[in-house]
Amino acid sequence: MTSPLLPDLPGFSIEHVTIADGITVVLAQSQTTSSSCPDCTHLSSRIHSRYQRKLADLPWSGRVVRLVVQVCRFFCTHPDCPRKTFAEPIPDLAERYARRTNRLKEVLERLGLALGGEPGSRLTAVLGMGCSPDTLLRLLRRLPDEPIDPPRVVSLDDWAWRRGTRYGTIICDLERHRRLDVLASRDAASAAAWLKRYPSIEIISRDRGGEYAEAARVGAPQAVQVADRFHISQNLHEAIDQAIRRCYPTIHQLLSPTQPVLLGEDLPLKRDDAAKAATQKRRMARYERVKVLHEQGYSLAQLAAYLAMKQETVQKYLMEPPRPSVYKPRHGKLTKYTPFIHRRFFQEGCRNSLQIFREMQQQGYAGGSTIVVNYVTQLRQLIGEPSTAGPIMRTRPTPLKAAVPSPREIGWWFCLPVNRLPQKQQDQLLLLREADSELGELYHLAQTFFRLIRDHSSSQLTPWMENALESQTPELRSFARGLRREEIAVRAGLDLPWSQGQTEGQITRLKLIKRQGYGRAKFDLLRQRVLHAA
Ligand SMILES: [Zn+2]
Repeated sequence: MTSPLLPDLPGFSIEHVTIADGITVVLAQSQTTSSSCPDCTHLSSRIHSRYQRKLADLPWSGRVVRLVVQVCRFFCTHPDCPRKTFAEPIPDLAERYARRTNRLKEVLERLGLALGGEPGSRLTAVLGMGCSPDTLLRLLRRLPDEPIDPPRVVSLDDWAWRRGTRYGTIICDLERHRRLDVLASRDAASAAAWLKRYPSIEIISRDRGGEYAEAARVGAPQAVQVADRFHISQNLHEAIDQAIRRCYPTIHQLLSPTQPVLLGEDLPLKRDDAAKAATQKRRMARYERVKVLHEQGYSLAQLAAYLAMKQETVQKYLMEPPRPSVYKPRHGKLTKYTPFIHRRFFQEGCRNSLQIFREMQQQGYAGGSTIVVNYVTQLRQLIGEPSTAGPIMRTRPTPLKAAVPSPREIGWWFCLPVNRLPQKQQDQLLLLREADSELGELYHLAQTFFRLIRDHSSSQLTPWMENALESQTPELRSFARGLRREEIAVRAGLDLPWSQGQTEGQITRLKLIKRQGYGRAKFDLLRQRVLHAA
């Protein structure tokens, strides 16, 4: 039997095909007449016996396929060889002792890589090559590491096994866009041991400082270290953010309108218009159903049971359509006192909410202390100060709508090119820069540094660091000291084209694979699935 439809079995003749119980059984005979002894490699054509090997193969028209192949056992005819007989190897079809063909194994491996154990196993059942999750995982664990071409430019980055407690390392080849390895920890020693295996490494891109700098120093002293531009700008952004929070009382005073319109308790508890409209739409739909069903003769009780509504509501709907609920603006007890609280908090620096509460009582405030405490807590959150007491949640704190932008927002103004800001913010920014010398200087230095990053040039780094080290802003001085500690890597990060961008992409992929295992996959399995393309 020779047909293009039959499975491809080079070196075998297909004798017989039967279908029983939905399983296709293909009987094939080896046409080999001689084979080499695995011990002495002597060629022998003296057949000892024939025997059958049963192999699972790729499905055929969705049906499970079993190959039954007749292979030979040969005598070893070399006089000095200790081996008497040996089985004919069939390397193109299956490995020694294997119970599935190579091509089936490859497909199963790919399914396992793409889907993992359980989902992969379920799919194999559908596809007619049923394989248990355990077997699938065993196949994955056995996959040999793909050989690595000696890398020249690598990047090191960490990824979280469990955020905040356990981290691993991923290593990528930035030139070939390839992930090279995944390590179970992020300590300097294991990364250094890995780097030592490849003296070809000339450039190492990494995050700022810490373990990977040490790993590169120990494991690849020949390589140039590149501090990642993104991490550097992020660190500067953080420094700016902290400085802005520290200066926020001043900023708040500068940007506050003459009549304080900072709204808290006096804001009516208004729900989002969209949510309100959706509720009303739902209500109207129910009303329509009540009307229609009532006309069909259903009783009140039946309607209530059927629509899962209260009888009273059904009755009300029968009389008139539901009206949108009206939210009456509330005039809070605090309204009269907010200007006082703001003055005490921002201008006079009082952070003690109970103190403020007592002072308000002396002025005639008749409300409770809770809303005052909550309000002050929100003010503290606004300027990024942790609250010592924690908010008392007996009343729901109303969202604080500030006329003055938050510290976070102002931090962004300092980082973005000025033409990206709306005119109003540009005006406010100019006001801050001109009214406060520290903010003016901070702004100038921040913008200069971000320009260095955008221009990919470290030529102005030295004068910048000198200026920053003498600036009025302690957060900026500390940032500059950090840069100076690893100046060579920072310089390389500004000048060279390499960055961690690619690696971040690989980490995203890794996290996806990790989540597919519901966090139960062991490290070795995760590593296999990350390194081998499915
Ligand atoms: Zn032999």
